[in-house]
Amino acid sequence: MKVISVTPRGYCHGVVNAVEIAKKTASNPDTPRPIYILGQLVHNHYIVEELEKYGVISLENSSSRAELLADISKGTVIFTAHGVSPQVKEAAKAKGLNCVDTTCSDVEKTHLLIKELAAKDFDIIYIGKKGHPEPEGCIGEAPNHVFLIQDEKDLEFLVLPQTERLALTTQTTLSRWDTSALVEKVKQKYPNIKIHVDICLATQQRQDAAATQTGDAEVVFVVGDIHSSNTNRLAEVVRNQVHKTVYLIDSVNDIKPEMVSGKKTAAVTSGASTPTNVTREVIKYLEGYSD
Ligand code: SF4
Repeated sequence: MKVISVTPRGYCHGVVNAVEIAKKTASNPDTPRPIYILGQLVHNHYIVEELEKYGVISLENSSSRAELLADISKGTVIFTAHGVSPQVKEAAKAKGLNCVDTTCSDVEKTHLLIKELAAKDFDIIYIGKKGHPEPEGCIGEAPNHVFLIQDEKDLEFLVLPQTERLALTTQTTLSRWDTSALVEKVKQKYPNIKIHVDICLATQQRQDAAATQTGDAEVVFVVGDIHSSNTNRLAEVVRNQVHKTVYLIDSVNDIKPEMVSGKKTAAVTSGASTPTNVTREVIKYLEGYSD
């Protein structure tokens, strides 16, 4: 089978940085034990499993970061690349924990922006995914000033005064197309709003590549974890922008005969948190496939 390898794909600088910091922390004999991560360091279970081998415990369930922190009484806590609220940072310090922060610099920019706008008494509409850790951390910068919306319905129910001190920002890993459509709706409702779309460059580049490079592929495979926001958005881009059959797969083991049967060309891309070797195995399998 002919395989189109979409580029760029896979690891972004934020994920590389977070994994490096976590491994370095765990390899240092002076690091207070046990070592916990508040959530998954990045949303990919292969990375979580690899860190387990370093003795790092990922506290993962659907709880908020503050609730996860309540279970830790000693040792080290690592904050994930998605960032955490100032309240969580302060609570961790108050517990006497050794705090290690792997927040991506792109997420930090949004934290800073929210802090600055809130100090000027702006209300801020934040477009993001409910229940995702990144919005949770960002909203924590100014809980009384930030209003999370996920879709048009949320916007419909939002009631804010029509002032000059109104701004909009976003989660870093959203779909460019869905976001710009929602931003237009926000502008219609609040014409004076100041717009700061904070979708990170890595996400934009991967989405643009997925939208333009799949060529004559009859099927597209997006490799990544089902819980990864940017991976899900990549699959949506292929589905909604290039209108091709797309499968979000965790690894080569998820490829079923009916996905490839009768196909001559496939394209492959992967989320920003997907390990390179996992994507390579998918490409290798598809290249070797024939009916
Ligand atoms: S996807 Fe973007 S914001 Fe998230 S870790 Fe990567 S570079 Fe940072």
